[in-house]
Amino acid sequence: MWSDRPLTGSSQAERGVVLTFDDGPGPETVALAEYLRSENVTAAFFAWGRRVRELSASVVRLLELGHVVGNHSENHLHLTDTFVTDEAALAEFDMTDAALAELGVPKPRYFRPPYGAWNAHLAHVFNAARRDGAGPINWDIDGGDHLFWRDRRSPEECAAAYVKAIEKRRKGVVLLHDFSADDAVAAAANRTCSTVQLLVPRLRDLGYSFLAPDWISESKRGID
Ligand SMILES: [Zn+2]
Repeated sequence: MWSDRPLTGSSQAERGVVLTFDDGPGPETVALAEYLRSENVTAAFFAWGRRVRELSASVVRLLELGHVVGNHSENHLHLTDTFVTDEAALAEFDMTDAALAELGVPKPRYFRPPYGAWNAHLAHVFNAARRDGAGPINWDIDGGDHLFWRDRRSPEECAAAYVKAIEKRRKGVVLLHDFSADDAVAAAANRTCSTVQLLVPRLRDLGYSFLAPDWISESKRGID
């Protein structure tokens, strides 16, 4: 069953965070994933169709490193926009799901709709069409990394913004971007890999733990 409301990390323990990365793979995704593995952090990467096809070797490497790879749709549309038909919304899921299946991404394949745009109608459509997937998975904490890259600001400033945003909520799913699907300037200037190398030790100093992106305990009621 697909949830009417996207899943988040609200039931996580205090000072537990899950790192998630959208819109990739990007040029530094593998370096980022290798850094996280060296720090014993397992993250989730929500990839979209075109990038999955262009950088399929990066997706395979993410799996080898033990990270979770999820579906971030084929074309990065707002699925709740009125011009997106039910059939188009399903196709957005299906095309990327097929690409991920081909690369060996195991089930359940998690889905994060672009912009987190989801509603009860889409849940009904996905359930009625019996789409095999889990979610949707949204987030609790967004430090706006892509805005830092758009404005050519530094990883230090970006990491500080994330620490502030995380300290405000103290737990949950953190949204970051290893590429940008709809902003070529931000995509080219992306420095999320450097940011995460500042963020992980800083959060550990503050007493945070990094939880594996395993929403299954929350969402298994809905998985066929
Ligand atoms: Zn996105």
